[in-house]
Amino acid sequence: MKVGVVKETAPGEHRVALVPEMIGRLQAAGLDVLVESGAGNGAWFADSAYAQAGATICGRAELLAETGLVLTVGKPDEQVVAGLTEGKAVLGMLNPLTDPALAAGLAARGVTAISLDGLPRTLPRAQAMDALTSQANVAGYKAVLIGAAAFGRFFPLLITAAGTARPAKVLVLGTGVAGLQAIGTARRLGGVVSAYDVRPQTKTEVESLGGTFIELTSVGPAAGEGGYARELTGEERQAQQAELTGHIARHDVVITTAQVPGRRPPLLVSEDALKAMTAGSVLVDMGASALGGNVANSVPGETTVTENGVTVIGATNLAATVPTAASNALARNVSALLLHMVTDGALAIDTADEIQAGVVITHGGTVVHPATAAALAADNTGGTSQ
Ligand code: NAD
Repeated sequence: MKVGVVKETAPGEHRVALVPEMIGRLQAAGLDVLVESGAGNGAWFADSAYAQAGATICGRAELLAETGLVLTVGKPDEQVVAGLTEGKAVLGMLNPLTDPALAAGLAARGVTAISLDGLPRTLPRAQAMDALTSQANVAGYKAVLIGAAAFGRFFPLLITAAGTARPAKVLVLGTGVAGLQAIGTARRLGGVVSAYDVRPQTKTEVESLGGTFIELTSVGPAAGEGGYARELTGEERQAQQAELTGHIARHDVVITTAQVPGRRPPLLVSEDALKAMTAGSVLVDMGASALGGNVANSVPGETTVTENGVTVIGATNLAATVPTAASNALARNVSALLLHMVTDGALAIDTADEIQAGVVITHGGTVVHPATAAALAADNTGGTSQ
């Protein structure tokens, strides 16, 4: 089978799905790799590096015509979708739960869609394929750097002849992969870190990184399936926001990372909490989205300042802003998943396999992924999958 790596066209997307280092591994499994010219430029991987590793460099039209499987970082653009004819496949982070219509369209074209974000996260043998983890790790790191850059004071305790600077008080809300990396990064910069998550089992992880875990009395544990959090009820949400307000007001920099799969991100920092913060405080909302984020009124992709002088950064796709590290990790995940699914140089789709059951979204002209099919049904009956 020929596998193609396309140049990403989404705004701000500098990552690439495969790096030169991985090409030899795919070739050893009987796969030929074609790379669209310039695909790695944004992450500093030149065409020549891919060619040297054994890939064929070509234009987009040739790549789409020749390959049976296209590797992407995010959702394929219209041109790529148009080039995916019956029997071909696409593998990337397709976000089928928030965009089930894309899956339906690919199914209608007879395309096999494989989405890295459906991977069972808690399965040890799937760890090397876990792109959500690798990219959240990069994003959590970068969130702290942009928070620190926007903050008007130091992170560490500094004692100098010109006076003593107290360390920044950093609060991390949501302590999954991104949150834990944010805690580690903020601690390395010298901040004093507290953290909260609705899954109390993260307490020991927070403490092992040197953070203080905040426990709320008004909201009980809310662990859901597969290691994720469940959506809170309206009452729980209000209680959570109210109790968090006092904690938020005591911190200088707040990084929010809370997500619930397939739902809009939960609002954790209310308008009241923003008003209670001191001028000069900074929030980095990693949940910022068109549907709303973890912070009231955060604008995705923009930095706003409230009337009381609080900077709110609507951080989106932070992993793409550390493109070399993010692509290196993503390419390992993509290669591991692909090698798991390839037999004798071709894709061997088998949804009885636990890993494939999570990642194969469409096959043989239908949406085979139950959660995506349910999201589509909810959309069609006027329900919401967001
Ligand atoms: P995520 O991005 O879905 O969410 C980030 C965090 O937000 C989670 O910790 C979640 O509990 C929290 N959250 C959601 N709603 C919240 C609310 N209302 N208030 C406060 N916090 C809220 O999570 P993730 O980082 O993708 O991690 C998901 C799970 O996968 C975790 O259990 C993680 O440990 C697990 N995981 C396991 C492995 C492994 O076993 N190898 C690898 C990676 C991740």
